[in-house]
Amino acid sequence: MRHPRASLYQRLKRLGTLSVGLALLAASSAMAAEVNLYTTREPRLIQPLLDAFTQETGVQVNTVFVKDGLLERVRAEGEQSPADVLMTVDIGNLLDLVDGGVTQPIRSETLDAAIPAHLRADDGQWYTLSLRDRVAYVAKDLDVDQLHYEDFADPQWRGKVCIRSGQHPYNTALIAALIAHDGAEATEDWLRGVKANLGRPATGGDRDVARDILGGICDIGLANAYYVGRMKNAEPGTDAYRWGDAIKVVRPSFKASGGTHVNISGAAVARHAPHPDQAVQLLEYLVSDEAQSLYARANYEYPVKAGVELDPVVASFGVLQVDALPLTEIARHRRQASELVDKVGLNQ
Ligand code: FE
Repeated sequence: MRHPRASLYQRLKRLGTLSVGLALLAASSAMAAEVNLYTTREPRLIQPLLDAFTQETGVQVNTVFVKDGLLERVRAEGEQSPADVLMTVDIGNLLDLVDGGVTQPIRSETLDAAIPAHLRADDGQWYTLSLRDRVAYVAKDLDVDQLHYEDFADPQWRGKVCIRSGQHPYNTALIAALIAHDGAEATEDWLRGVKANLGRPATGGDRDVARDILGGICDIGLANAYYVGRMKNAEPGTDAYRWGDAIKVVRPSFKASGGTHVNISGAAVARHAPHPDQAVQLLEYLVSDEAQSLYARANYEYPVKAGVELDPVVASFGVLQVDALPLTEIARHRRQASELVDKVGLNQ
């Protein structure tokens, strides 16, 4: 049997025109629909979602993982950039892309229906895909089942609080939200109180808060909820499992609003996207019930779309009452938040 490629080649040769060859090339690339994704998200977290998208739509996803400098890279590529979709964690990083001029506005009824208005741009420049609530890890035997973020500065927790660096985006976003709710002066006092309460320097990662509660170094801490999903679902006998087993989650709220602070993972369509239709298609897929349930079950993140089933561990934390503060308000105060962290020497 003759190789099909040889027969195509021979046919092309017989036709003998370059234009037909080009037309065939164009036709084949139109058939192999693709979309180029630039993402700062960890590959293992996002890959199952992309595989499911390709399976469902036949659209191939070419992924470029960009750890740092996403904005600089897309800017440098300019009009030649192959990027179609830009995906980040942290609202600040996402808005930096918008402010940096590398996104474009889109319209999608599907996205508007799935994502609450305060979790997307009015003009379609960015969209939230999942929620990441910043919660209290509490030693599981402590009789504490309600907290305000403001309580972390209360002297009753002297020497008992663990957090990571105050300059980490997870913390600057939370501190920015405190500024928006309570004002800069009260937030500075809060930071001084938290500093006085630290059981160890503000360093390490979120899971280290659970580790150090197990180790008796602290009783409470601030960290993201999805790590608890990972730890409590880990293999029994592993460190992760033991850390997760030492704590319970209390979802704090701001005194002023009664809501819990969330940050997001989100995405935007790139300004010079070569495949804008597929870019929108990918975003729409990511808010489908199927994809949202993958966010919930594989990543232990909170779905942005209502009514999607949660991982049982995450469900056990109770109802998430999302702080109603617009994400743009949080982003607006994050520089000041970072300055206050330095001013009080939280990390020193
Ligand atoms: Fe994280």
